[in-house]
Amino acid sequence: MAAILLDIKEGDEVIMPSFTFVSTANAFVLRGAKVLFVDSRNDHPGMDESQVEALITSKTKAIVVVHYAGVACDMEALMELAARHGVFVVEDAAQAIDGYYKGKPLGGIGHLAALSFHETKNIHSGEGGMLVVNDPRFADRAEIIWEKGTNRAAFSRHEVERYTWLDLGSSFLPSEITAAFLYAQLQSLDEIQQRRLEIWRTYQQAFTAENNKVRQGYFGELVSALSGLRARIPHLPTYSSNNAHLFYLVFETGEERAEYIKRLQEVGIMAISHYQPLHLSPFYQDKHDGRALPQALSYSECLVRLPLYFGLSREKAVTMPTGAKQNH
Ligand SMILES: *Cc1c(COP(=O)(O)O)cnc(C)c1O
Repeated sequence: MAAILLDIKEGDEVIMPSFTFVSTANAFVLRGAKVLFVDSRNDHPGMDESQVEALITSKTKAIVVVHYAGVACDMEALMELAARHGVFVVEDAAQAIDGYYKGKPLGGIGHLAALSFHETKNIHSGEGGMLVVNDPRFADRAEIIWEKGTNRAAFSRHEVERYTWLDLGSSFLPSEITAAFLYAQLQSLDEIQQRRLEIWRTYQQAFTAENNKVRQGYFGELVSALSGLRARIPHLPTYSSNNAHLFYLVFETGEERAEYIKRLQEVGIMAISHYQPLHLSPFYQDKHDGRALPQALSYSECLVRLPLYFGLSREKAVTMPTGAKQNH
């Protein structure tokens, strides 16, 4: 919907990180855009903001920022850059519910934003999502696109006598069953977030050298398995809150990560990697402009995500629920 609202068409260019989920790119590629991928930061898997400006051309329509792990991108710098070049900012806030940049909710800063309610996110409805329209110029058209390109929503409010096909659109709305499921999750957001933060902080303490005394139970297993391997824990910039979307370790080498995953498997704990950089994917590699993006590649080879879900027990070793998706 964001790509349709921005009138993205053949020949337009869109800038986004390579280390993200395919949906970030698909939305724009479906409208015919060319994607210019940005590398990750060396202290965080999120997009390196300092590399964006060099990629802006007269064809650039939008910068799509991804708040990886719910950690904010430097939005002030990016909004200022976008304003200076007359391009739009779309926030992929799929992982960012209840995340904040200098106190402002993520998804509430760019011209448009999208949140995901896929089952792998902090709160979910199985499948689902939300478009956030922060620039009021897009609001009326968004409602029409959402309802298959018709003004059926206006009809439901008795504003028109019948509804008709006015624009491009699709069936972007949730069913009532989906909405009901999500509503219950929203009502429990604070409780879910509190629990997730508690698990996140327990991981952080367990892996922090001074407190590295956790040797028992589930968290003890994770620390013991690290013996002899070199890994770092997530870094959060001062302007970002922590929404406890995920906890990960970044190893020095791919071999060390493989060894850690193997050791955890032996004690019944499932830990998984994350994205293959999109610029190296079978679909996009020959459309990519050939720039090497070493940080994105390195996170792809060296990052491992640890189990983080509401029902994770503090004491016992628990495996990921079956059906947990590897790529989200
Ligand atoms: C989950 C996710 C998406 C996709 O969300 P859907 O609800 O499956 O469309 C997009 N971008 C990022 C960064 C994600 O984590």
